Amino acid sequence: MIIVMSPGATEQQIEAVVRKIAEYGCEANISRGVERTIIGAIGDERAINQELVDAMSGVEQSMHIVKPYKIVGREWHKDNTVIDISGVPLGGNTVQIIAGPCSVETQEQMDTAAKFVKEAGCRLMRGGAFKPRTSPYSFQGKGVEGLEIFRRAADAQGLPIVTELMDIRMLDTFLEWNVDVIQIGTRNMQNFDLLKEVGRVNKPVILKRGMSATISEWLMAAEYIAAGGNHNIIFCERGIRTFETAYRNVLDVTAIPVLKKETHLPVIIDPSHAGGKAWMVPALARAAVAAGADGLLVEMHPTPCEAWCDADQALSPDELKALMAELGGIARVIGRDI
Ligand code: PEP
Ligand code: MN
Repeated sequence: MIIVMSPGATEQQIEAVVRKIAEYGCEANISRGVERTIIGAIGDERAINQELVDAMSGVEQSMHIVKPYKIVGREWHKDNTVIDISGVPLGGNTVQIIAGPCSVETQEQMDTAAKFVKEAGCRLMRGGAFKPRTSPYSFQGKGVEGLEIFRRAADAQGLPIVTELMDIRMLDTFLEWNVDVIQIGTRNMQNFDLLKEVGRVNKPVILKRGMSATISEWLMAAEYIAAGGNHNIIFCERGIRTFETAYRNVLDVTAIPVLKKETHLPVIIDPSHAGGKAWMVPALARAAVAAGADGLLVEMHPTPCEAWCDADQALSPDELKALMAELGGIARVIGRDI
């Protein structure tokens, strides 16, 4: 950590800072300039309480040198992490497309959806049994029955399943139904108790970006999961809130290269919740693959206009098939496959 003292800082104030960082087990390297003194804290700077240092008299500002996200950061882990999702690799050369309806509705709907997901060439399936809806009067999801329906439909096609966990109390049930990937939704990205709990299990976790979260907050949220021992984390950008009202959210494509630089973990994109309209999905999906996303989370419904949730953004089975062909072309250009 570097601590910049104010121009008029006294010797006593400088000494007090040196004593404080020694309390945290760090040594001080003092550099006296004409106008200011700069103190370098040498040692494990993560132990230093930055707020306390900033509050000391004579301190103008302090900054960390090493990244606070030590497990998920690339600093200490140079190679890309490939996550094994029940035999399907995510984060390697193959771009994985996770498709399926917004929500689990009926056995027939899920059976049909699973068949189309498989036919399109996708290796993983999505579907929400517990839905975080803006209104308490909207369909809240089928709950545990939805997990059962989903598992049955996906098993028939040999597809691992991705589904959202909203409540810690449901974690054991998710494990009983052998959910392959636990999704943490945008509204729960900073639900720290939930993050700690999924950090204790050994299941891959998709951590969606909070709709107004910075990259740094998102990385720190992932670090919560990793700190518990679960390093199987997949980042999912799903669009952020901005001043723009012409579409549901703004897909932050910039987050892809930035995250790829900051973390060794896979990064996927949800073009469906970003645009909020089915017709926008192909363009956003193509952009995401071209920009280096390791996968996509796409909503597809056997009959979109009948979907109980997010009907407007669901691709039809034919549209998903057409998109897969296009994405294959883009992936090949950048040396990857689908
Ligand atoms: C979802 O993927 O079903 C979902 C609710 O997404 P988000 O958390 O990104 O809104
Ligand atoms: Mn949805």
